[in-house]
Amino acid sequence: MQKLTVLGATGSIGLNALNVVSQHPDKFNVFALSCNTKVAELAGQCKQFKPSFAVVYDISKTQELEALLEIFSPNTKVLSGIDGLCKIASDPSVDTVIAAIVGSAGLLPTLEAARSGKKVLLANKESLVMAGSLLMNAVNESKGILLPIDSEHNAIFQCLPNNYTSSKRSGVRKVILTASGGPFRTLDISRMSEITVQQACDHPNWKMGKKISVDSATMMNKGLELIEACWLFGLSPDEIEVVVHPQSIIHSMVEYLDGSVLAQLGNPDMRTPIAHALAWPDRVSSGVSSLDIISTARLDFESPDLEKFPCLSLAISASKAGGSAPITLNASNEIAVEAFLNKQIIFTQIPEVVALVLKEMTPIEPDTLNAVQVCDRNSRELTLKLITKYFRK
Ligand code: NAD
Ligand code: MG
Repeated sequence: MQKLTVLGATGSIGLNALNVVSQHPDKFNVFALSCNTKVAELAGQCKQFKPSFAVVYDISKTQELEALLEIFSPNTKVLSGIDGLCKIASDPSVDTVIAAIVGSAGLLPTLEAARSGKKVLLANKESLVMAGSLLMNAVNESKGILLPIDSEHNAIFQCLPNNYTSSKRSGVRKVILTASGGPFRTLDISRMSEITVQQACDHPNWKMGKKISVDSATMMNKGLELIEACWLFGLSPDEIEVVVHPQSIIHSMVEYLDGSVLAQLGNPDMRTPIAHALAWPDRVSSGVSSLDIISTARLDFESPDLEKFPCLSLAISASKAGGSAPITLNASNEIAVEAFLNKQIIFTQIPEVVALVLKEMTPIEPDTLNAVQVCDRNSRELTLKLITKYFRK
């Protein structure tokens, strides 16, 4: 029986993970669940899964959650704040931690799980973008396991050999990271400034949280994923080719020196990578329907349009620059996306904001957690300042 903590249980990934878990009560047991503020949803999940702990990040909601759990799951203990999240990520009773908090808020508990030698199922790509070296070292030192549930990275993982340590040793020529191209793939570049919040959040193939939906629309998501892939698989940015594949049936590919290209295919449903990582190295059913290759019929591929999606170029440059550039990229993007969602800036200003912050920030060598956090905070402050000064509508 695998004992699980789900960080970010009320989000899109959290719900998909709990859906898979509910199909296998003989294999998975929920030890702890967490949310940011949605305590009513969390209480409903506690009623179903009866975890030992429920954690709300927002401390002001603690009593509300306690009152709900007294009715719905009296044996579940309530914790709150960052300490609560870190406790359920590292508790000795936990085998597996699903890191599904969105954004940089996920870094500390994810790192805590990695340091404690857990099997970490990583959805929270932002933590690797910010602190890839710290997180990978923590996993290696604690002899933990890091398994990607981001669909592309899970696909790459499945296409690599079991004993993979580096691209060179395994004869990998390159990794082909596929991208759907998002909702604006075919929109004329001259109309990109008219994009509304609702249009940006409406992804053609995936139903996801708002932040990652906007990231997919700007293609920053693919940029963050390129950085994520570099850390997970020890690759340089030059070993990764981003290819737009609008159907999202091939989730990524690995090309070997002999010319073989291995791909992982499946319906676009996050329960597949989640089930794969939960059961690894075994397999379990996920509830995802069988891929109907005949009705799919076409698989198209094209190059990404870097002029229309400057966020992708910014991320590739930040990845090549290394150091604190990815931290600043991620922090400024989070603030810019929030400003777009709050209708303070327009869609095409997201990359403009990120580019300006990257230009203005002095790079540092982020070799400690404290240095990462200081750089993250300074980048956020500068982004807010620049938005107020230059961009606000
Ligand atoms: P979401 O917005 O639907 O859910 C986010 C979850 O994080 C919620 O449970 C929320 O309560 C929690 N949360 C938010 N802010 C928090 C904070 N400050 N402290 C503690 N908890 C907080 O997001 P999502 O779409 O589920 O994405 C989660 C992560 O997974 C992101 O990093 C995203 O990039 C990644 N991811 C998502 C998908 C997808 O299909 N949704 C696919 C690949 C990767
Ligand atoms: Mg992805």
